[in-house]
Amino acid sequence: MTWKWTLLDAGRFKLDGGSMFGVVPKGLWSRFCTPDDKNCLPYCCNCLLIEKDGRRILIESGFGSGWSDKEKQMYGMNDATILTALDEANIDPDSIDTLILSHLHFDHAAGATLLPNATVVVQNQEWEDAIANRSTMSKTYLPRVLDSIKDRVKLANGKTAFAEGITLTPRIGHTWGIQSIEVETENGTLCFVSDLMPDHHHVGLAFSMGYDMLPWDNKVTKQAFLEEAYENQWTLVLCHDITHPIVTVVKNEKNQFALEPVTEFSRTQ
Ligand SMILES: [Zn+2]
Repeated sequence: MTWKWTLLDAGRFKLDGGSMFGVVPKGLWSRFCTPDDKNCLPYCCNCLLIEKDGRRILIESGFGSGWSDKEKQMYGMNDATILTALDEANIDPDSIDTLILSHLHFDHAAGATLLPNATVVVQNQEWEDAIANRSTMSKTYLPRVLDSIKDRVKLANGKTAFAEGITLTPRIGHTWGIQSIEVETENGTLCFVSDLMPDHHHVGLAFSMGYDMLPWDNKVTKQAFLEEAYENQWTLVLCHDITHPIVTVVKNEKNQFALEPVTEFSRTQ
């Protein structure tokens, strides 16, 4: 039996356009993304609920709660969280025993504080870097979040068959310990890509983020990832994409990788 999956939107926020596109000039990225008057672009926190044989696992948890008004304003956060998303899907949060996180930056991991009974699964490398606060951003690994999960964290070491039909795969670049999560579903493999490629505008190899710890590695990892996803006809979940959260990998007329939206999941902003 394969995993049944549900896409959840655990909150909207905004990030600086320049930071999101790293070395790509604004003259280029502003052709397909329109920033607001503060040069920010809108994003969401897509999460994935997977279910099989009565077991429920959540992949990612969004930015959670506990933010000051100033912080909420700074990040343009709305009031949604993983709890409101689960509520909309009629899922009891207490029925989720495991939360798998791609990495521990707050916009992926802070929602873990709202699921205090779930075991949290992350790569050992990511946990060590988070504890040591190894990041170009000073406030992305939050002590309050790490504290909340420290007694319930389960560390993976490298590529791991986590459960039947769930594989955790390190994808070095955005951080040293970031991982993607591959899930076997009725329609083939569904991959939660995370910040290796946060939205469909980042399919180009040079489209790394200013937040990436290792932009070169991210480029090399993305190339190999796109080949793997294309060869195996994976369906991808893009963590921060509002309009095209679910895509497949195709090749365009120039024989370059491109992403094709699975339109039944497409949203308007
Ligand atoms: Zn991140």
